[in-house]
Amino acid sequence: MDYIKLINCMRCGMCLPTCPTYKETFLETASPRGRVALLRKLREGDLDQSDRLLTYLSFCLDCQACATACPCGVNAGELVAEFTCERKEGKRMGFMEDMVLRKLLPHPERLETFMVPIRFYQRMGLQRLVRTLGILKMFPKPLERMEGLLPDLPEKPLRRVIKEDMQARGETRGTIGFFLGCVMSLIFSEASRATINLLTVLGYRVITPKNQVCCGAPHMLAGDKEGLKTTARKNVDIFSRPDLDFIVTDCGGCGAELKKYSHYLEDASSVLFSSKVRDISQVLAMHADELKLLLKPLLLKMTFHDSCHIAHSQGIRKEPRDLIRLVPGLTYIELENADACCGSGGTYNIEKSEMADLILHRKLDTIRATGADAVVTGNPGCLLQLKKGLMDHLPQVKIMHLTELLAKSMNT
Ligand code: SF4
Ligand code: SF4
Repeated sequence: MDYIKLINCMRCGMCLPTCPTYKETFLETASPRGRVALLRKLREGDLDQSDRLLTYLSFCLDCQACATACPCGVNAGELVAEFTCERKEGKRMGFMEDMVLRKLLPHPERLETFMVPIRFYQRMGLQRLVRTLGILKMFPKPLERMEGLLPDLPEKPLRRVIKEDMQARGETRGTIGFFLGCVMSLIFSEASRATINLLTVLGYRVITPKNQVCCGAPHMLAGDKEGLKTTARKNVDIFSRPDLDFIVTDCGGCGAELKKYSHYLEDASSVLFSSKVRDISQVLAMHADELKLLLKPLLLKMTFHDSCHIAHSQGIRKEPRDLIRLVPGLTYIELENADACCGSGGTYNIEKSEMADLILHRKLDTIRATGADAVVTGNPGCLLQLKKGLMDHLPQVKIMHLTELLAKSMNT
């Protein structure tokens, strides 16, 4: 880790009110400023790498809200993530980590096979039974949390059924490589189907390579830099076709990671790859005038939650809002602190469930205050977290991906 990044913090505290864990605890050790100070003291040899210190650092969600607020360009979340990677470098991985990060995630077909029993569990009505009887309370907490977050799975993962090469409707204006995130394919396949449909309607040929692999975000979260570089290399090679104008994703977390490939791999092909990556909202916003003509009225009161990976990591805020406002008849209500984290954070909502719930409830309170019928967002992690939160506490409020909203308006 670059020492300069640590000493850039001038301890002004401007990041504190934006940090979800500080807002819940008011503890300096749970703030970005405190985390940077701990890393600096560690680096300077004034602190040992104790369990207590690692616990303090582990509460960071890597939401990057502090980076947006910091006038000195300090990114506490990224520094904590870098520290985790350095700490784990060269160390032997645990069995479960090795299974998930090396044996499962880089192989989409294995991931799909892994989901088969879960789909069976839902289709046979076992999930309803288990939830009604409260059986999961007898199982370890992480398992109970994971099950609770699980929405209805689609019939088949989108990767299995989607055509690899979808021609543009009408005249072709360009070619897009579509990065279909694992969670989007396995769980939110309708949203990604809507994404591809919107792009073809707007005149793009869409290529979705079936052999693409996980973006590497889970590897980064777990501190597995080697695994991350391997998946990044594979994706860069798969998408290195000169005919691609853009590489588009509708998964905020994947987009943030794909844009960083050039930093990880540092070669010409990865620089070209990252320069072509766009969040779906960026491409759709380029064609707002045409899109507007295709949309039909929806009488909905709608609000928008900024995914951390889209707003803070990629700096995209205007495009999704402009697109929502295109829908005729829709009333848009801005959410207070729309870019505050929802508490999802990869597996944070499973590992740090109490803190994640506090953060989620703060978000739900702001959604309740809008009186909206539905919330739009652009990242599967947020969709999972908010879907569960809304189902438990605000069941009248629906949640959907941005492209689902636009597709709904197009097909009404
Ligand atoms: S991280 Fe940035 S905003 Fe926070 S205290 Fe340091 S300089 Fe100030
Ligand atoms: S990344 Fe998020 S949780 Fe971590 S220190 Fe920054 S604001 Fe706080």
